[in-house]
Order: sequence, then C-alpha cells, then structure tokens
Amino acid sequence: MEERHPDGEFSREPFLDLPASLGWRTRDAGICFADPPSVILHATPIFPLCHPELAARGIVWDSFSLLDSLARPGAYWILNCTCGIADDAGLEVPIFVSHPDRQRIVWELDLKGLAPALEDRLTGTDGFIRLTFARDEYESDLRALIGELRERATNPVTMEALSETDSVEWLQRESSHLAPFQVEELEPGIDGMDLERLLDLDPDNLPASAPLWPPGTLIEFGFFAVSDGHELMRVNGEVPWPSSWTPRHFTRWEAWSAFHRWVDLCHRGFWLGHHGCIVSPRSEQNRFFLLQEADRARCHAAGRHLADVVRRGYAEGETAPGVMVRDAECPLDVAERMN
Ligand SMILES: [Zn+2]
Repeated sequence: MEERHPDGEFSREPFLDLPASLGWRTRDAGICFADPPSVILHATPIFPLCHPELAARGIVWDSFSLLDSLARPGAYWILNCTCGIADDAGLEVPIFVSHPDRQRIVWELDLKGLAPALEDRLTGTDGFIRLTFARDEYESDLRALIGELRERATNPVTMEALSETDSVEWLQRESSHLAPFQVEELEPGIDGMDLERLLDLDPDNLPASAPLWPPGTLIEFGFFAVSDGHELMRVNGEVPWPSSWTPRHFTRWEAWSAFHRWVDLCHRGFWLGHHGCIVSPRSEQNRFFLLQEADRARCHAAGRHLADVVRRGYAEGETAPGVMVRDAECPLDVAERMN
C-alpha cells in the first residue's frame, strides 16, 4: 500500500499537471429527418491534451455537467457521448472535480478510462492527468459557451451553414425548399429535454456554489447488506440517492484509485466460480466475499485508506466542511473452495 504523504496532501503525482482553460467549437452536428427536418447542435470539447478528432469520435461537452462542476466538487460526465451514454464513446470514468480554494477548479482525468478523449501519446499510460482552471475564467468561459449554444439554438439554420454536416445531400435534394431549419435537439441527449433546459438557463445567473454535503453529514464506506447484495457507501445511515454509485461522490482521482484497491480485494458471489469457489446461492449473488481469510486485514486497511483519502478531499476549501468520513468494518464471509 502506498504511503501517505507526510503533509497529508495527495500522495500520487499526476502523469502531467497543466494549467488549462475551456475551449469548444459549437457545430450543427446532424440533421433530424423529421417533418419538417431539424438540426442537432452540440459543442466539441477543446482542452489541453485532448484528442484532435473528438468530433469524429462523437465526444461532446455536457454543458449541464460543466455547470454542476462550477457549483460544487464531485465526479461528473463532463465529457460525454453525443447520445448521453458516455460508455458508448469508450469513456469509462467521470472527471473528478475539486475546488481546493476559491480561485481554482481542478480536474483529474483517468488516463485509461478517458483514453478516447485524450491525445494518442497518452494511450496505455497508467494514472491520471491534472488540469487546473482559474475559477473566474472557467465561469466566464462557461457563460460564453452557454450563450453561444443558446444563440445557435434560437436562430434558423440556412442550407449553406449545413454544408459540412453529414447527410446534407439528402436534405439538399429533398427538402431545400423548407430551409432555413430550426435547431430542435442538443447533444448529449440525456433526457430529451436538453434543448429546453438550455433555453431555460440564464447565462448571467449561473448556479451559486454549494458544499458537496451539508455540515454534519456522516459518510461511511463498508459492505452494507441490502437485499441480495452489498451497497458500498452510506450517507447518514442511508444508501445515497439519486446515485448509489460510490465514485460519483469522489473529488480526487486518488479516491478512485483507493476505491479500486479496496473493492478489488473481494468478489461478487456470482463471480466466485471463476476463482475455484462455490458460487453463492441466488439470494447472495451480488454480495461480496473474500477469497481467503488472509485478505480480511488487507481489505479493512484498504477501506480505511479510502476513507482517509476521501476525508482529505472533502476537507479542501469549501468542499464539504463539517462532514465526517469513516470506514465501517462490516463482516464479510470467506468463499468456500470447491474441493
Ligand atoms: Zn453514443
């Protein structure tokens, strides 16, 4: 297990650590062949170390996640697939966002989990990169991005403006008499209401910052039995809602790394057969099991380490003042060998 840095800071160094600013290119990305046809709008991300072909890869900025990341630290799918399912574009890990002080917004990007969005020379590298934004610039850039998207969304689109858009030939042939066209969709399309949400936004009145958890909140990591499985996190004794996916609540990449070291020491019941163990009954298939008694102490140590890392993240700036984070040592069964 890695040593904690003597001054209590994060001990893992990023592969690269760069100052950054938000860039974008808004595009009429496609045509919706309805009656009448309409236009699909999105913003292609530009940031240090980003892959130059993000438009071709279908990777877009999620403006609403960007807004959330301005308001409060946490893990966000800021880079998303045009369809709203990040995994579809090979994006497997959210961006971990921290606000270490009032001046800076820091992103930590997992190199493997976000490889399709990053320069080819980073492919195959372990660890993470860190991008640091000046908060006031982040806010004004985001306001400009929202303003530009709103402007495009409310103005009719001429046939000429669509000349580089896929399938425009069909439109020229069949529907040129219907031009200009309206923008009717914003990508990523998460709930079908994204364009309406954009038009409801007031770019001069962005959400105010708020702590990740209210003061006095108790966060626990452990293996909490719920129906046929285990939940891994509790907030004031309850499974967090709306997202029970634990890494959603991390602000630093190191927490993601500590989380994996912890859960990788145990195995779900349905997976035990692959380890030469008796597969647990259906009623326990989603529970976690240790493969051997010797792993118990390592697992508890890894759980405590996770709680330490998350606590340090929550102690930064105004992230989550007055919040308690601890590891709950829950009993885990050891899987039985097949022979
Ligand atoms: Zn997709």
